[in-house]
Amino acid sequence: MLENLKLAVKRQKKLIIIFLLTIFVPSISLSIFGIRAIRNERFRMAKQIENEHRRAAEFLKSQISAQFKELGSILQNLAQSTAFLQRDDAGIKNLFETKLDENPLVDQVFVAFEKEEVWFPLFQPIPSDILYSSSPASEGIQQSGQKRAEAYEFKDRNYTRAISLYRSLADQSPDTNFKAQMESYVSRCLEKAGDYAGAIQNYQKICEVYPDSTSLDGMPFSLKSQLQIASCYQKLGELQFSLQTSLDLYKDILNMRWRLKGAQFKAYADLVEGAISDILSENQSNLSFKDYNEEFKQFKNLYQERCEQWLVIKDIGQNIIPELRGEKALSTYRPIPLQYHKTLNERTFLLSAVQILDSSETRPVGLLGAKVREPYLIEHVLPEAIENSQFINASNVAISHLSGKILFGGRNTSEDPTTATEFFEDNFPPWKIEVFRSEGEALGVLDIKRNFYFWTILTLVIVLISGSVLISRTIAHEMVVLKLKSDFVSSVSHEFKSPLTSIKALAERLRDGKVKDSDRMNQYFSVITQDADRLIRLVRNILDFSKIEEGKKEYEFVETDMAQLVTQQIESFRRSEFAKGLEIQIRISEDIPHLDVDKEAFSQALNNLLDNAVKFSSDRKEIEVNLKKENTSVFIEVRDWGIGIAPPNLDKIFDKFYQVRNTLQQSVKGTGLGLTLVKHTVEAHGGRIVVRSRVGEGSIFSIILPTQRKEK
Ligand code: ADP
Repeated sequence: MLENLKLAVKRQKKLIIIFLLTIFVPSISLSIFGIRAIRNERFRMAKQIENEHRRAAEFLKSQISAQFKELGSILQNLAQSTAFLQRDDAGIKNLFETKLDENPLVDQVFVAFEKEEVWFPLFQPIPSDILYSSSPASEGIQQSGQKRAEAYEFKDRNYTRAISLYRSLADQSPDTNFKAQMESYVSRCLEKAGDYAGAIQNYQKICEVYPDSTSLDGMPFSLKSQLQIASCYQKLGELQFSLQTSLDLYKDILNMRWRLKGAQFKAYADLVEGAISDILSENQSNLSFKDYNEEFKQFKNLYQERCEQWLVIKDIGQNIIPELRGEKALSTYRPIPLQYHKTLNERTFLLSAVQILDSSETRPVGLLGAKVREPYLIEHVLPEAIENSQFINASNVAISHLSGKILFGGRNTSEDPTTATEFFEDNFPPWKIEVFRSEGEALGVLDIKRNFYFWTILTLVIVLISGSVLISRTIAHEMVVLKLKSDFVSSVSHEFKSPLTSIKALAERLRDGKVKDSDRMNQYFSVITQDADRLIRLVRNILDFSKIEEGKKEYEFVETDMAQLVTQQIESFRRSEFAKGLEIQIRISEDIPHLDVDKEAFSQALNNLLDNAVKFSSDRKEIEVNLKKENTSVFIEVRDWGIGIAPPNLDKIFDKFYQVRNTLQQSVKGTGLGLTLVKHTVEAHGGRIVVRSRVGEGSIFSIILPTQRKEK
C-alpha cells in the first residue's frame, strides 16, 4: 500500500509540481497578500475617518463659537449706540426690543450701570418710568386734611364727607402719587358705602389717569385698583366681569407691566391666580365660563416660565453681576467681549458681556450682557451644523459639559472608539465635543472592499481544495492502476504457467519414451496442442490489448457469412479439450445476412465469451448460442447457467484488468482483458455488447451488430 503510494506520487511528480507552482503557491501568497491588504486598508480607512472626524469636530466648534462671536458684536454695537452714551432708558429698552427680542440665542439681557441695581430690559419696564413718590403726603395741610378725612371714614363712617375731603385734598396737591392715593381712598369709601358701581368707576379712573403711580410701599395704584374692581364686581354678582378683570390683571402682571420686585410679583400673581381659580371652580357648570379655562391654563404656563426667569435674573443679579464687577470688568477699558460661564443650582449660565462706556467713550461705566439659551445651541445650532458637515451625522457626536454631564448624543456602546475630541477656546462654552466611530456606519465602505477580498480568498481556497482533491484522486487512481497491473502480472504469469508446466511434463514423458501406447500418445499430443492454443489465445489477447492501448489496432472487414462463421467457431470450440463434458446448443435463424467483419477478431471475441461461459459455469455445464436477426440488427447471444454477475459489477466487467473478486472462484484465473477486447471489437464493428445476468442463475452476453455497417 505504502509502496504503491510512493510509486504513485513518483509517477505523478510532474503533476504535483505543476499543481504546487501554478495553484498552491499562488493561492497561498495571494491569500496572505489579501489578508495583509485588508489590514492595511482598515488602517488607512481608520486614519481617513479620524481625519474627517477631526475636521468635522473643528467645524462644529467653529459654528458654535461663531454664534458667540456674533452675539458679542451685536452687544458691542448696542453698547456703543447713542441710547447708551446718553443714558436714555426708553431708547435702550426700545433698542433691545428691536434688536434682540427675536434673537433665539438670547435668553436674558442685562444692563448693570456702576453702583446701580441690575436692569433686565427685555423683562422689566423702564426704570425711569417708575415714579416712586419722592415727596409723600407729608406736607402739613395735607397731613391734617388726610387725618380729618380718615376720621370721617373710620370713626364716623360718614363716607360722603370723607369722600369730598379726600377729593379736595387731591385737587389741592400737585403730586400725582398723592392724587392717586386720595382717589383710591375715595373708591374705598364708595365700596364701604355699598356703592360698588361708583367704586368701580372711580378705580377705573385711577387706572386711566394714574397708570404708573405707586404707593409709598411701591405698590402700583393701577394694579391695586384692578384687584378691587374684580372684587366689587364679585360683590355685585357680576362674576363674568370679575373674572375678565382678574384675567386681564393676571396677564398684565405676567407681562411685567409694572416694575415689581420678585416677591411682589409672586404675591400678586398668586393672589389673582387664586381669585380666578376660585371663580372658575365654583362655576364649573356654567358654560359661559368654559372658554376662560383654556386662557387661564396658558397664563398659568406663562407664570411658570416667568418664575423660572425670575430665578434666572435673581441669580444673575445676586451672584453673577457682583462676580463680574469683582473681576474688574469695569475698572479698565477692554475692547473684547467678555465670556463668562457659571453653574448655579444645576443651571448653566453662559454669558457674553461688553462694557458700556461714558460719553467720552474711554471709561467703562457699566456692563451690557446677555445670557445665552444653551438649549437653543444644543437643539438647533448643533444639529444644523452636523447636517452641514460632510463626514458625520448625529449618531456619532457627543457633547458633554466639562463636569461630565451629557448635553447631546451619546454612545451606543462604550466600545465605539473616539476619533476626535475638541475643546473650546478658554473653555467657553465649557463643553467637550467628541466624535466617535459607530461600528456599522464607519466600516460601511470598508465592508465592500473587505467583501471583495473575502470572496477572492474564498475562491482561492476553493481552487486550492479542488486542486488538492484532483491530485489526491489522480494519485488514488494511479494506485488502483498500479494494483490492477500488479494483479494482471500475477494473473498472466499464472495463466502462462499452468499450460507451460503441463506441456513441459507431457513433452518430457514423450521424449523419455515413457509413453508407448499410441492412443495415449495421441492424447498427450492433443493436450499439448490445446495448451499451446490456449497460450496462443492468451498472447493474442495481450498483443491485441497492447495494440488497442496504443491505438494501433486495425481491423480488416470482409463480407462474411455470419451463420457459417459462428458455426465453425463453435464447432472448433466444442472440439477443444477445454469444452470437455460441455453441452453446447446452437440456434441459428435462417435470415442471417452476410456482414462486413474482421473474421479473426470476431472469432476471438466469440471465443472469449465462450471461454468465460465455461470458466464461470456451475454444475449445469451447458451453453446456448443464439444467432438471430431483428429489424436491422444481428444478435449473437451466448448464454450460460453459471455463477452470474452481481448488478454493481455489471458495468465494470468491461473495464481493462477488471475481475470480479469471488472467493468461490479463487481457482479460476484470468487476465481481466477478455471482455475489454470483446467490447472494443464489437464497437469497431459499429455494434454494442449487452449483458444480462443474475447471481446464481447465469448470464446472457449479447453482441448486437448492425446489418449495415456504417463506414467511419
Ligand atoms: P477474465 O475472464 O480474464 O477474468 P474478462 O474480461 O473476460 O476477464 O471477464 C471479466 C470478469 O467478468 C471476470 O473476471 C468474471 O468475474 C466476469 N465474467 C465474465 N463473464 C462471465 C460469465 N459468463 N459469468 C460470470 N462472470 C463472468
